[in-house]
Amino acid sequence: MSRTLSPSCKQCRREGIKLMLKGFRCYTAKCAMERQGHNNPPGVHAWRRGKSSEYAVRLREKQKVKRYYGVFDKQFMIYFRMAERSKGNTATNLLTLLERRLDNVVCKLGFAPANKSARQLIIHGHIYVNGRKLDRPGYLVQVGDKITVKPSEKSAKLVKSYIELDPNRPVQGWLESDRTKLEGIVKALPTRDDVQIPIEEQLIVELCSR
Ligand code: SF4
Repeated sequence: MSRTLSPSCKQCRREGIKLMLKGFRCYTAKCAMERQGHNNPPGVHAWRRGKSSEYAVRLREKQKVKRYYGVFDKQFMIYFRMAERSKGNTATNLLTLLERRLDNVVCKLGFAPANKSARQLIIHGHIYVNGRKLDRPGYLVQVGDKITVKPSEKSAKLVKSYIELDPNRPVQGWLESDRTKLEGIVKALPTRDDVQIPIEEQLIVELCSR
């Protein structure tokens, strides 16, 4: 599976927002975006750049979403076509589809500190969906899906160590998490309000519909 090799904090600096790619560290004063002199865009002369073109503004919105959910362009366009074919607003459909990715759900249940570590848990077979191993981070969860941790001491120990990093992390209303039993349930499909990063999704639609 391909993965981005760019340092996480550099991606946040590039986009100018906190993408929360490093888990617990993102909530501390060590976050590069919280430190004066560290939160500028990467590149020697980045501060000299002038006004962005309309295309650049739209591209940045798309990149923010891709980086936050950890998807590449080809995969992103598949989600976009699915959103276009679905009923309702394409922009909202796109974000709610991405929100349903299994790696995002595992992270939001509190079983992993960030999407990246959630992806690692899934690929290494530590996560079960409805009692069966599912090693595809891009699986789109459905209402009623039960997400559990592989019944092995090693898997439980690993997930518990992640939970201990931030045991009181709130869980969104569309999910239910039982961190003692290491299981979670998808109670409803996510809505636009459940998307936590500041995005102007309409700009993405304008870019991708060209
Ligand atoms: Fe982004 Fe801050 Fe987390 Fe680094 S620590 S990934 S800059 S939010």
